[in-house]
Amino acid sequence: MDVVVPPEFQRLFVTDADRPIVKVPAPVLRQVAAPVAKITDKHRLMADNMVRIMKEANGVGLAAPQVSILERLIVISPGGKPMVLFNPVITQMEGEQIGEEGCLSIPGLYGDVKRANLVEVEAYDRKGKPVVYEMEGFAARIVQHEVDHLDGVLFIDKVDVSTLYWKDPVARDAE
Ligand code: ZN
Repeated sequence: MDVVVPPEFQRLFVTDADRPIVKVPAPVLRQVAAPVAKITDKHRLMADNMVRIMKEANGVGLAAPQVSILERLIVISPGGKPMVLFNPVITQMEGEQIGEEGCLSIPGLYGDVKRANLVEVEAYDRKGKPVVYEMEGFAARIVQHEVDHLDGVLFIDKVDVSTLYWKDPVARDAE
């Protein structure tokens, strides 16, 4: 589906030095990201920048294509502690959960998405060490949303369209 941004939300869709996250319909958001062949200092810097950008945007996850980098890197912050995952692969999915999602690349739009409730993720951490995480509930939701970004998939592709609504994220954060 195409996102038709209401006039009062269009200011949120500006991308510039202060707001580096790209917004729909940027083509980079629809491309498939390439695996990171070797995790170098350049990648660690990239990851640290993404953590900073995610925090500044009050987000709980950010994928590299959202900052115009077509490499398989996501950062997530399910419980306030940021995690860096290079080349994340969801190796197991179990159960089902339905919950509300939004996206820093579609600011202000929210809707219900059905996801697996439990996932196992294999990845490489910031140091390049292989890691395996089991995640449940909200954390599992974030990982699925961010890994989708690496394949050019957005939550609006999976959302129950009858639940979509616009809400100013500033007002939302104040709740
Ligand atoms: Zn997103």
